[in-house]
Amino acid sequence: MVEKLALVGIGKIARDQHLPAIAANPDWELAATVSRNASVEGIENFTTIEAMLAARPDISTVSLAIPPQPRFAYAQAALAAGKNVMLEKPPGQSLAEVHALEELAREKGVSIYATWHSREADCVPDSKAWLADKTIKRLAITWKEDVRRWHPGQDWVFEPGGLGVFDPGINALSIMTEILPWPVHVASAVLEFPENRDTPIAADIVFTNPDGAEMTATFDWRQEGPQTWDIDIETDGGRLKLSSGGATLEIDGQTVKKGSDHEYANLYKRMASLIQSGKSDVDLSPMVHVSDAFTLGKRKTVDAFHF
Ligand code: NAP
Repeated sequence: MVEKLALVGIGKIARDQHLPAIAANPDWELAATVSRNASVEGIENFTTIEAMLAARPDISTVSLAIPPQPRFAYAQAALAAGKNVMLEKPPGQSLAEVHALEELAREKGVSIYATWHSREADCVPDSKAWLADKTIKRLAITWKEDVRRWHPGQDWVFEPGGLGVFDPGINALSIMTEILPWPVHVASAVLEFPENRDTPIAADIVFTNPDGAEMTATFDWRQEGPQTWDIDIETDGGRLKLSSGGATLEIDGQTVKKGSDHEYANLYKRMASLIQSGKSDVDLSPMVHVSDAFTLGKRKTVDAFHF
């Protein structure tokens, strides 16, 4: 059955990824959009979710591609109206918000999917399989990108609830929590806040883990020139390097796989199968690490940041 979908927030990620992924998947029909200032040619647009929910009972599913701060109210309205809901990452601005949404979805008997697009990167399953029988000695995440390039003018990332550099950093944490054979937790963190902003522009994290391995993550949003989205892991059975955000896999210095981009295609495929089987998928482990880094992090004030 073709599911009718409303896409909310026609902005950067909606145009870059959601619209092409929906158009390419025969299980989905883009039936409406909700956006205050934008629309998609030929598709009915509403400026509020309430208006869409009242006018379009035929729509089964709402996909939220808005920033995390307004997301809860939109998701709550959609779930309360009996719609399945798909959440962009991070799934909310706090853990409690997402617990509440999960509970509401359960009460209403609908599916909720907290998506982690980076987990769909091509080499993530290969890395998980390769690591399964190894002892980890060292893990280093290096996620350094240029916020001006990827979030031009998006002040919400520096406002409370916008997560700052954890907006991309949580993608690395979503991969880490997927590929490691056991759970880890944050031991300490240093967060660098620009003097004029409410969220960090850089972060260094240390993790505690069962193998006693040295495990760190370095996130920085001030990286100009080449961008780095790498996870390096040394084990008793060799060295793994996941680069390009999970798209390229090296083992012992040899490239063994260079994948292509199916991340959002996979997310919409999975959402369709969750609805068909009446299930939900809400894994908050990447968000727990972010929350713990804010709780445990030592605050350092750095130079003001202006777009
Ligand atoms: P964006 O372009 O700044 O925002 C998307 C749209 O949301 C805006 O065009 C705006 O549309 C609507 N919006 C903004 N603030 C709102 C508010 N306060 N209330 C209601 N609607 C609001 O952001 P984005 O880059 O697409 O990111 C959206 C989400 O996708 C974030 O959670 C982000 O982490 C995730 N994501 C982004 C990227 C990326 O490359 N940018 C990649 C992967 C995931 P209207 O003004 O028309 O309502």
